[in-house]
Amino acid sequence: MIKDNLQEIRSQIPEGVTLVAVSKTKPNEMLMEAYEAGQRIFGENRVPELVEKFEALPKDIEWHMIGHLQRNKVKYIAPFVHLIHGVDSYRLLEEINKQAEKNNRTQPILLQFHIAQESTKFGFDWEEVSEMLNSAEYQEMRGIACHGVMGMATFTEDEKQIRSEFQKLKNYFDRLKASFFQNSNEFKEISMGMSGDFQIAIEEGSTMVRVGSSIFGSRN
Ligand SMILES: *Cc1c(COP(=O)(O)O)cnc(C)c1O
Repeated sequence: MIKDNLQEIRSQIPEGVTLVAVSKTKPNEMLMEAYEAGQRIFGENRVPELVEKFEALPKDIEWHMIGHLQRNKVKYIAPFVHLIHGVDSYRLLEEINKQAEKNNRTQPILLQFHIAQESTKFGFDWEEVSEMLNSAEYQEMRGIACHGVMGMATFTEDEKQIRSEFQKLKNYFDRLKASFFQNSNEFKEISMGMSGDFQIAIEEGSTMVRVGSSIFGSRN
């Protein structure tokens, strides 16, 4: 089942777009089914669950932290996490930098932008990000590698609205690239699109889709 779902999703994703299999709440057996079907990139949104799965499952898996991350939890994932998608404050970035340095790592991260209409979704706006990137404190951070941006569209049936929110994120990416990351080869990811909207996200320039329920079934 999971194997078939994966195949179906992959057939809809062009080369160059990364599929993050969002396995939150799902048992290890289901992740292993995906693993055996060739999936190596998994996304989780809770730190304890992420750590448990990291310890139990094969070591060639790339673990992505996709949810809201609390500062006091960064230390638990800092030794191994491949990419942190949801960086949404300066203080969180500062803590990730500190923990990365402790672990002798350069931690890849994505800056999360607030693109949805719902006020419940986390993320920066343009002014906050540009102020942060211009600050001397940011420029002295050696433990951070900014790989791009991430965002979540409003949960709605309105395709036009979803599309315009993804365009907003693509636009933020382009502006950041031009203003701050012209010479960075690693600033290249736009993480947008989930089960319900990943096709739209790809049409609007997504390089990384985070798909859960269409692979593993719905969550309780
Ligand atoms: C749960 C989650 C997803 C996956 O959602 P599905 O609708 O199950 O594909 C993607 N991104 C984030 C940030 C999530 O929390």
